[in-house]
Amino acid sequence: MSKPVKVRFAPSPTGDLHVGNIRTALFDWAYARHTGGTFLFRIEDTDTTRVTDEYIQAAIDTLKWLGLNWDEGPEVGGDNGPYLQSQRLGIYAEWAKKFLDQKDAYHCYCSADELEAVREAQRAANVAPGYNGHCRDLSAEQIAEFQAEGRLPVVRMRMPDGGTTFNDLIRGDVSFDHKFVPDFVLVRGDGSPLYTLAVAVDDVMMKVTHVLRGEDLLSSTPRQIRVYQAMGLAEADYPVFAHLPFVMGQDNAKLSKRNGEVSIAWYRDKGFLPEAICNYLALLGWSPGDDRENVTMKELTELFTVEKVHSSPARFDMKKLEAINGDKIRALTIDEFLDWSLPFLTKAGVISGTAEEIALVKQALPLIQERIIMLSEVPAMLKFLFVKDFVVETDSVAKIIDDASKAVLNRSLKELAPLTTWNHDSIEAALRSSLIEDMGLKPRIAFGAVRIATTGSTISPPLFESMELLGKEASLARISAALEL
Ligand code: GLU
Repeated sequence: MSKPVKVRFAPSPTGDLHVGNIRTALFDWAYARHTGGTFLFRIEDTDTTRVTDEYIQAAIDTLKWLGLNWDEGPEVGGDNGPYLQSQRLGIYAEWAKKFLDQKDAYHCYCSADELEAVREAQRAANVAPGYNGHCRDLSAEQIAEFQAEGRLPVVRMRMPDGGTTFNDLIRGDVSFDHKFVPDFVLVRGDGSPLYTLAVAVDDVMMKVTHVLRGEDLLSSTPRQIRVYQAMGLAEADYPVFAHLPFVMGQDNAKLSKRNGEVSIAWYRDKGFLPEAICNYLALLGWSPGDDRENVTMKELTELFTVEKVHSSPARFDMKKLEAINGDKIRALTIDEFLDWSLPFLTKAGVISGTAEEIALVKQALPLIQERIIMLSEVPAMLKFLFVKDFVVETDSVAKIIDDASKAVLNRSLKELAPLTTWNHDSIEAALRSSLIEDMGLKPRIAFGAVRIATTGSTISPPLFESMELLGKEASLARISAALEL
């Protein structure tokens, strides 16, 4: 009987998670959910110079925000913790000691300068760079000499001659000749473990069955397999690997953590919905076998298989993501749309959050639901309803209020003032019969002037509905004020 599936997502939070990480996390999650297995979340924070507590928290918050719930890991716990590598240092030290005792690993005393000199010589001789095995078989005297010099040794894994072949679920058989996989460092001179040791030890100890991760880590696989061997793991028990193709930028450049624009925090602040991001990323490099553009989280968990992941790089297309986000915003109920919009409105200072303001926002949201692609557009669209002492703000808008528009505004004022019923139908009827029919103006000219006067902008929700929500008093006051410009 095959083992229950356990998939892990194991970021090193040296910055905000980016699109590539999240696509990996999403596929990990989807595979775990599809198979009814376990989704494990582990923080690989052994690089203490680059990982910060803020980034760790941000990684946790991002997964939560996206709805990628985990069964084992930070905050939820589990039987195989701790799930922060910085809390597992003793475990790695024990394994490193065991590898030294077994002679799978050895102490290497080479200094940084000596290693650099070796690399230099390799470059000059045009041979593959890598550790030359200098300290593999030191005599007791040599060791005593290095120790007397006060050198702090690193622990290095001995790579046997030959090669490593493993079956990758996406790429098929992948082979590495050990000529190109030199002996590698497991533990630094200061006793801290390196990624290759920690990741392999944890995957084994946490009983991970499937490693789905970015293809940038493909070349580390033979080293990890070497660690499994030293741990005494039978080949049948190695985790199964699947290396996901890169997510490329539009210009074919690699997307990277350092590119701020692709951090998930950036998308959240712009007002992308997690569902849109998951929907878009799910179809970036995977498809269930048709050319659909939409997939829900439920469908993803039903349909996701690694076999359907493409082996060629996927290209990130912002326009597509925006279009999907617009679709998802339109699909929200008004209450959901309200919940998503309120933080944007308060953050922008448009509302303070009173019940009265919220009620007005709720009335106005249906007017803009069809028109926006990101939640960050909401404040600018609705601001006109909440500004107290209204002024037509920008010079460019003020310039549009010329003599011709003043004639329009004068007439509008005259027609609107006597209205006893103030709703979009009565406003529209009054303005159409006077401005379009009587004055013979084109709607763009006629209504454009009224729009600028009442909302302060050339872009606003539908005009008559906007004026209805604004109320008669404020609408007329703003038209009068525009006439003073
Ligand atoms: N911690 C590694 C990284 O963020 C990934 C580890 C893995 O998936 O094997 O690059």
